[in-house]
Amino acid sequence: MAKKETKKRKRDSVTKESYLIHGMARTKKWDYSHHVVPPLSASVTYRLDTVERGNEGFEKFSQLHSQALKKSPTYLYDRLDEPTRSMLEDQLAFVEEGDVGFCFASGMAAISASICFDLEMGDEVLIHKTLYGCTYSLSTNWLPRYGIKVKYIDLTDPKSLNKYINPDVKVVYFETPANPTMDIIDMEAVAKIVEKENKKRKKKDRIKTIVDNTFATPRCQRPLNHGITMVVNSLTKNIGGFGTDMGGALVTSKEYENDIMLYRKDFGGVLGSKSAWPILVYGLSTLVDRGKKQEQTAMKIAKYLEAHPKIGNVSYPGLRSHPQFKIAKKQMVDFDGKFAPGGMIYFSLKDDKEAKANKLLNYIAENAYSITLAVSLGHIRTLIEKPGSLTHSMIPEEEQAEAKMAKSGIRMSIGLENADDILNDLDDALKKLR
Ligand SMILES: *Cc1c(COP(=O)(O)O)cnc(C)c1O
Repeated sequence: MAKKETKKRKRDSVTKESYLIHGMARTKKWDYSHHVVPPLSASVTYRLDTVERGNEGFEKFSQLHSQALKKSPTYLYDRLDEPTRSMLEDQLAFVEEGDVGFCFASGMAAISASICFDLEMGDEVLIHKTLYGCTYSLSTNWLPRYGIKVKYIDLTDPKSLNKYINPDVKVVYFETPANPTMDIIDMEAVAKIVEKENKKRKKKDRIKTIVDNTFATPRCQRPLNHGITMVVNSLTKNIGGFGTDMGGALVTSKEYENDIMLYRKDFGGVLGSKSAWPILVYGLSTLVDRGKKQEQTAMKIAKYLEAHPKIGNVSYPGLRSHPQFKIAKKQMVDFDGKFAPGGMIYFSLKDDKEAKANKLLNYIAENAYSITLAVSLGHIRTLIEKPGSLTHSMIPEEEQAEAKMAKSGIRMSIGLENADDILNDLDDALKKLR
């Protein structure tokens, strides 16, 4: 028992790479000392020693003193706090370099919580115009019903923010790289403009900046270090890594802890421990090695596509031809300080014919061995899809064009196969394309 907290204390002296493997192997969150792998806790409710002790726990929650609960946990009920999920949250907070982490049932549950937990009727949200289809749907179909105004703007020019900031604006939201076009947004530039505005505001009226870090993962960038208020991730993608479990995470500073805990408790979109466990045990511990291999292969494939006569535009942050290559180099940096452009590629065909892109993907679906036609991303398998018809099909055609999505736009998420096998599959499909 005396050893319980040693790993925690060592946290600051080991690399993130090793921490992701060992994590909080000894922690007050679980009273064991012999497990090598953290246990999967599967109890929805918890035995209370006395009514008074239980009441103390509930009081802490209702009085929003959840931090006290976290230090020496009084577990009451799964939706409030739970050991397996809580260990995952600690580890995510550490790699994203924030104070506190919260896990949700899906990426969308984390995203909706990050945007909504502090908004009121009449508030306004500014969103970069290129974004994940369901986040677009959330902000066009749902937020306006609750009296929240939404404006889509172009944050690749951060200064344009100055035109749109008004007293109602409370949230600036974006993805970088953006899904699917791989736009890179200068996080520091956005944070600086917002910070300047916030100096004029009372604490409760301050604008929060939120970054969806799903494409990059904390391996490639830590938005909180660039002055961003909150970072969200879909754990379903590269952090889970194997395509077996859904989940979402939000990491931020302590000042928002109580409100987010309360929001999650009452709206109820919490991550179950049985999904938290594989993400903690298999996903996080392999994130660095999976990411590095995906990135090496992505670079080869991006270069191959860039040189191919049938391919039009290739958008990969590792290519010098990427319009925001310099910003990518500045902010996409792995735990060792090396440029980390990630494993996602977006490209279009030279003549930008939609029917031709369909033909290419249908050929791949039927004939390729190492490339799978499927949505989602960040898996050990290479996945290919056409956002305009699939993940982003709910965005009207004019707005897709506005967001610089090509008619023949294809998104590729690189997996762990041998790069030559992926290249052979692509080459074969492109040769057959007429
Ligand atoms: C998939 C995805 C989400 C949503 O995550 P779910 O876990 O499917 O809810 C959000 N943002 C981005 C960028 C995504 O790719």
